Amino acid sequence: MEIKKNYINGKWVESETGRTLDILNPATGEVIGVVTHSSAVDAERAIQAAKTAFYQTREWRDMDAQTRADILLKIADLMEARADELARTDTLDNGKPLRESEGDISDAIHCYRYYAGLVGAPEGSTYQVNQGFGKMHSYEVREPIGVVAQITPWNYPLLMTAWKLAPALAAGNCVVFKPSDLSPLSTVMQFEIFEQAGLPAGTANLVLGSGTEVGVAFSSSMDVDMITFTGSTAVGQDIMKRAACNVKKIGLELGGKSPLVIFADCNLDAAVEWAMIGFLFNQGEVCSAVARMYVENSVKDEFVKKLVAKMEAMTIGNGLENPDIGPVITEKDMNRILGMIETAKSEGAKVLTGGYRYTEGDCAKGYFIKPTLLDCKQGMTPVREEIFGPVGTIVGFDTEAEAIALANDTEYGLAGAVFTENGAKALRVTTELRAGITWVNCCEPTFNQAPWGGYKMSGIGRELGVHGMEEYQETKQINIALEPGAPGWYVNG
Ligand code: NAP
Ligand code: MG
Repeated sequence: MEIKKNYINGKWVESETGRTLDILNPATGEVIGVVTHSSAVDAERAIQAAKTAFYQTREWRDMDAQTRADILLKIADLMEARADELARTDTLDNGKPLRESEGDISDAIHCYRYYAGLVGAPEGSTYQVNQGFGKMHSYEVREPIGVVAQITPWNYPLLMTAWKLAPALAAGNCVVFKPSDLSPLSTVMQFEIFEQAGLPAGTANLVLGSGTEVGVAFSSSMDVDMITFTGSTAVGQDIMKRAACNVKKIGLELGGKSPLVIFADCNLDAAVEWAMIGFLFNQGEVCSAVARMYVENSVKDEFVKKLVAKMEAMTIGNGLENPDIGPVITEKDMNRILGMIETAKSEGAKVLTGGYRYTEGDCAKGYFIKPTLLDCKQGMTPVREEIFGPVGTIVGFDTEAEAIALANDTEYGLAGAVFTENGAKALRVTTELRAGITWVNCCEPTFNQAPWGGYKMSGIGRELGVHGMEEYQETKQINIALEPGAPGWYVNG
């Protein structure tokens, strides 16, 4: 198998270590690719290439804005031409149903187009000031931050790549990038497309390797000006500590344990289907999964009955065959999730459906879990901790105030959803939720235009939208004295 390489300073290069890593398909356990496996030395080479490109060569940063936008549009067009191959790659690498990968690729393509459109968009403010030193004209300009390091997780391989690279590049930065070791193949294709689209050498550099070697080299570097990361809260905390060495700017999109509040006055059939999307999409391996369900006690049994019936009818299988749900990412994760279900049982949770490894037919070769619903009490481990798999919990409530208190009883604050036909109630609950993304009578959708990110231990900063571009920019104020001559401040000097 051809070894996929790093892309540093416009060249495809193997790691100085000579090491390689096998990439597995979680549906079959089979090897589907081999990548070079880099060290801190490789990471440093990439950082120096980005530093030279930003501070010395300056080609991307100083490029005519229309040409820069054209390159981003060309990247989108080239991705579109390879969309089927990209979607297939993400399904093989991550396991998700093919139609979900196709949706991811489409969103990723539009993310580049969206940020191409923001190149040269209005930015900053102007102020007319007269405060002690006479009249001044003050205005803001936005500038790229410099060398940006980016690290992504495995659950949305190409989409997370686009969410990070499109705004960082649109803003004129130079980037060093590390995808997850578990699903790096579509990111390699993304960099092939960068080369084809004419991105100048050193502008975007790919380093394939582990978080503990390459990721740590990024966060500890004195030459990286900003680091953005999507992944677990524990790793986010490590990055934050190391980033202190040179006071890097940080952007963190971390874990979640998001609530789904279902009131008796909602359209229950619609709520059941949305709930399934909310906690079973992408095998439940979604940071914003609303897997912590709270259901008004008067409809709890009915909701559970309908939900269990639909969950039990779901097809499970190899993502290429477009089942309702695919395998979880690794054997280790499968065992972690099954262990979490065992913990739940030992704490008194009742398994309403699922709760076991699914091994029918060819699924015996992969890492499949039967979609699982647990009847829980607040405070049990599966209600508190992120599961990141096809497992939801149900807890009952009686009043709106109780629902809000239960929903907010978490250290996380990424997302939350509420189902009710009462508009005022929906508004009250979403207003009270301490979370960055909230939904009414739906869950899961996100848009390139709208800011994405969490409160509390779910992160710092926002991705996507105009905010997402601003995260990759410095703001400078320029103050111009309008009065002629000196202000005459010193009496004796
Ligand atoms: P993870 O273990 O935190 O890994 C994420 C990335 O960080 C991987 O590329 C990993 O490299 C790297 N990494 C590991 N240790 C590192 C370190 N010390 N310094 C720098 N980088 C390091 O998370 P995951 O298991 O891939 O993804 C699941 C988590 O991501 C969940 O908690 C989920 O909620 C969160 N997530 C959040 C969002 C969001 O938008 N908020 C979106 C998706 C996922 P390796 O290649 O070595 O693993
Ligand atoms: Mg894989």
